[in-house]
Amino acid sequence: MITKPPFSSFNFFETLFNKTEENNILLLDRQGIVIAVNRAFTKTFGYSRKELTGKNFALLFTDEDRKNSRHKKEIATVLETGQCADNNYLVKKNKTVVWVSGESVLVKNETGANCILKIIQDINQQKKSERSALEFSSFNENILASIDDVVIVLDEKMNILKRNHAFNSLFKNGDSEKRLKNFKDLIKPYDPFGILIHQVKNTFKNQKRSPEQTVEIQTPAGEKRYFDFRCSPLIHTGVGKNVLLVIHDITAHKQIEKEREDVIGFVSHELRNPLANLMLCNEILNESLKEQNVKEAEEMLLRSKNNIKRLNKMIAELYDATRVNSGILKLEMETFNFGEMIREAIETVEALQPAYKIVTRGESNFEVTGDRYRIIQVVTNFLGNGIKYSNGNKNVILSITHDKKSVTVSVKDEGQGISQENLQHVFERFFREEKTRNIEGIGLGLYLCKQIIEAHHGTIWAESKEGKGSVFYFSIPR
Ligand code: ADP
Repeated sequence: MITKPPFSSFNFFETLFNKTEENNILLLDRQGIVIAVNRAFTKTFGYSRKELTGKNFALLFTDEDRKNSRHKKEIATVLETGQCADNNYLVKKNKTVVWVSGESVLVKNETGANCILKIIQDINQQKKSERSALEFSSFNENILASIDDVVIVLDEKMNILKRNHAFNSLFKNGDSEKRLKNFKDLIKPYDPFGILIHQVKNTFKNQKRSPEQTVEIQTPAGEKRYFDFRCSPLIHTGVGKNVLLVIHDITAHKQIEKEREDVIGFVSHELRNPLANLMLCNEILNESLKEQNVKEAEEMLLRSKNNIKRLNKMIAELYDATRVNSGILKLEMETFNFGEMIREAIETVEALQPAYKIVTRGESNFEVTGDRYRIIQVVTNFLGNGIKYSNGNKNVILSITHDKKSVTVSVKDEGQGISQENLQHVFERFFREEKTRNIEGIGLGLYLCKQIIEAHHGTIWAESKEGKGSVFYFSIPR
């Protein structure tokens, strides 16, 4: 005997309508006008029965969905196929928008007329959890991507389960799929002593975070780099034992450390010369006093004075260089007469080198705004070098040209000159030409000149011919 399905009866719907707590039900006519609405619906969406019946169910849709005629399409589908299921947003009376799963079916009422039964489930919470899970995972991915350290998750067979962007760029030449998959194979050529692998294995064995260690790696690009790395066991990943390997690039730090050591070595070496000289002068002075040799004593005093000056200059340059490096060389701007400033610089140099008479060319009786003391420093450095590297050739010419906007100073000597190859390096920190090593200096003067001129928004440059002489220029806005 065939049992008549109970839901053919409209009374059944009535019961379902009134009793169900979870399913929000709407009964619509063929145009989408609400005929009836159940209690669960009014409870969830905040509308009263009166507010909905007789209205088009489109009022529950978002403006955007209404604009896209989503409600009409839904009705059309149900009328055509007898059924329609979809997930979409619906708007509650209090204007909050909820994500729902809805199913509409074509049914006949007791009079046999077609109407649409729409059953809606609020899946907002589920959607929220899905979204937050998605957001959390993309948040994790974003964190991973933004970390400069290399981050890798490995399984016990050293397969790379996860890697971040930093990893990809460090091993950019090794990204054939096969190599990327196994860390042991990948790292072997770059870590010949297997330090990394050893530590990863230990972490798998002990399930304890490893101490930080440094490793030197030759990257696929052939660069030697230094890394600090650390392995941590990953628990509760749900996919067996894994290890997180974090590799931190400390190459730049190592370089700074090395540079600092070089500077300390260099400085102590350079300071030793005038100091040794001073000690010698002191001993001779002692003897001369005992022997009452006034002439020798005077000579020694002069030598001591010169050595103290040398030491002073070196210390001042070193001090300035550290201030420049830390970005604290501040200019003290004032408006001054350029010609007077140039004269003062020349007098300072000529007092130290009385054998030299510096020739000046060009008009200089005009005002300039800048740090007078620092510009004197640049001019004396140019002149001092012109004399120091002159090979005894006494022609040193200082020329000034200017217009309304800027002033250019050049210092020309006929000394030993600089090779074309080295000319581009003379403004670098501690740069000295090999052939000038026996002449006193620490290679900071021109570096400081460059910093001073650039701080004035000016330019500095040099021309030179080996064996013939050099011309050093600077130009600053007036
Ligand atoms: P320092 O004179 O103390 O070594 P500088 O920074 O003033 O430092 O100069 C850097 C280097 O540039 C010098 O050691 C020298 O090799 C070269 N140099 C600078 N000026 C001249 C010049 N006028 N003629 C030849 N070489 C020069």
